[in-house]
Amino acid sequence: MKIDFVNSLNNVTYAIRDLVPLARKLEREREIIYLNIGDPLKYDFKTPNHIVEAAYKASIENNKNFYADSQGLQELREAIAVHEKEYNKVETDAENVLVTQGVSEGIAFLAKILLNPGENILVPSPAYPLYLSIPLIYYAESKEYKMIEEDGWKPDIDDIRSKIDEKTKGIVIINPNNPTGAVYNQKDVKEIVDIAGEYNVPIISDEIYNKNIFDENAEFKSPARLSKDVPVFVLNGFSKAYLMTGWRIGYLYLYDSTGENEERTMELLLKIARLRLSANTPAQYAALAALTGPQDHIEEVNRKFEKRADIICKRLHEMGIFYIVKPKAAFYVFPKIENGKISDDVEFAKRLLLEAGVFIVQGSGFGSLGKQHFRAVTLPPEDLINRAMDKMEKFIEKNKV
Ligand code: PLP
Repeated sequence: MKIDFVNSLNNVTYAIRDLVPLARKLEREREIIYLNIGDPLKYDFKTPNHIVEAAYKASIENNKNFYADSQGLQELREAIAVHEKEYNKVETDAENVLVTQGVSEGIAFLAKILLNPGENILVPSPAYPLYLSIPLIYYAESKEYKMIEEDGWKPDIDDIRSKIDEKTKGIVIINPNNPTGAVYNQKDVKEIVDIAGEYNVPIISDEIYNKNIFDENAEFKSPARLSKDVPVFVLNGFSKAYLMTGWRIGYLYLYDSTGENEERTMELLLKIARLRLSANTPAQYAALAALTGPQDHIEEVNRKFEKRADIICKRLHEMGIFYIVKPKAAFYVFPKIENGKISDDVEFAKRLLLEAGVFIVQGSGFGSLGKQHFRAVTLPPEDLINRAMDKMEKFIEKNKV
């Protein structure tokens, strides 16, 4: 008997891990340098001790190993509300906050409460791939709006306007952005909020990198702060700023000054959240310590991110075939392959892995405007970055026109 599976998953992909099986196979024979996954803990970054200790204390000393409330620990939700007010200058309260198993779960929950079959959300192109795939599970779609590379990957406001239709249920802003490392200026964010207001669609604001901005001139502002009456779903988490990727804790809240939607939003979110009982309890205590404890590591880590991004950009620039917009935040570069024998990004990624042992991600995995690009993480220690760049340089030399 052949089992009849769903067809909603036919087009679901996650480009960042597409070539992993090939990399693992090659790894048996030679060194493979992984520049594909945005996980600082795979390199020389460590969850700060006070965070790990809080989980230890909760679990081992105080037996806080029960199912937490489905909405999340009250103490953590309160700390998140305080943090959002202090850091983002956005008013919310613990009742509006849902603790999620990473921002990933927050994105999936939002798709579930917003998208009927045939409807869409607008997502930037290029975008973090989850936004392209998750709507498909609900027989909905992502419509890509253009980011202008020559203008520092700034959102194309006219393109957003032209893409909104009667089936649009949200406009996604990923700021700071993965994969480009861009930070939108305040005017652009405000314009997107205004368009959302004009067409009566909420904003979905992914702010997971908002503490990892290293360009001093970048002016991050949450759309929730700039919105008068447009509802904004804010997504954030602990994976990146607190070096807690594997702990799987994030959060989600709706900012809505009209007060019309908060209750209904939480009612729907809780319907789904209850089905998965709760997020990991000791990890929530760790997240509480992350928010309320020392924040010094963030500055230190950002300096490292900046330095490493500088090295990669410089080395790639010297190879002479890439157009590179320097990132202002996060830990990615997203160069365009301007000339050379291989301009197809899928072929470029595969051959670079096979011939040079360097694993980057094909740009088309981040949406249609990602074609002819690749994403490399800038996380490895300097000697490893340089080794990867040496290998890449040789590969590029061989493949120049
Ligand atoms: N949103 C963006 C823009 C990301 O880059 C990532 C991870 O790389 C996520 C969400 C998922 O993060 P989390 O670990 O909180 O699920």
